[in-house]
Amino acid sequence: MLSYQHIFHAGNLADVHKHGLMAWVLDYLTQKDKPLTYIETHAGRGLYRLDAPEAVKTGEAAAGIGRVADWFGADHPYARVRDLVVAEHGPAAYPGSPMLAALLLRDMDSLMLAELHPQEFAALNEVMKGRGIRLENRDGLELALAVTPPDPRRGVLLIDPSWEMKTDYDTVPRALDRIARKWPVGILSLWYPILADGRHRNMVGTLTKTFPDALKSEVRFPPHRAGHGMVGSGMVFVNPPWGLDQEAARLAAKFAELGG
Ligand code: SAM
Repeated sequence: MLSYQHIFHAGNLADVHKHGLMAWVLDYLTQKDKPLTYIETHAGRGLYRLDAPEAVKTGEAAAGIGRVADWFGADHPYARVRDLVVAEHGPAAYPGSPMLAALLLRDMDSLMLAELHPQEFAALNEVMKGRGIRLENRDGLELALAVTPPDPRRGVLLIDPSWEMKTDYDTVPRALDRIARKWPVGILSLWYPILADGRHRNMVGTLTKTFPDALKSEVRFPPHRAGHGMVGSGMVFVNPPWGLDQEAARLAAKFAELGG
């Protein structure tokens, strides 16, 4: 199907939640002088322009990072990466999660990114070229299952699907379970939408049972427009790094001020 395009949503409140936490995790892991692997199953195009007609049309970025950038001090890794892409690509540039990883990780680290949509993949290829990153135009869960456990074993997986198909709510947690068995030391993260109709709930229940020690971070926000189905953003981290619970709590308190 592949009709989802992240440019309509880049920089929205869900991205702020996901990108804020992912940047924190990656920055934390690079404080140790040991190489790591970063695998992302649903990469998107890596770099967005928030003045693109699609982004302006929805207004989600303006109501997202455009409104809450001050939640992150200048030394927060999410702010640091945004500053770097703005310096290089202009004031409307916004980093996707692969760009967060590319700019926070080091030469000794290994990155693998999958993106299935041919145009998104072509755009990703363009922005990531010359960085020594493995890029695959294929199903991301298939890639993750094929390459885990990675070398180096220390590392992070991000699964950030577009949740276009109902079956995703079954296939994604099942794949995560298989990946966790293959890569028991990996920090495995999954983003999901919190939906007004509660479609995500069974899946979150399954994840909680399968991974009782995982960190779950859920935040709510007012729907972007009347009737908008997404009323919040959720992330699950299997094997969360030390201190992530505190960063998640800090962000949750900020989101709570929005009154969702
Ligand atoms: N992670 C990105 C970020 O935060 O910057 C956004 C990713 S977006 C939510 C989901 C992406 O997954 C879309 O670009 C879509 O084309 C891609 N996609 C959909 N199905 C896929 C699949 N089976 N395997 C890999 N990519 C897929």
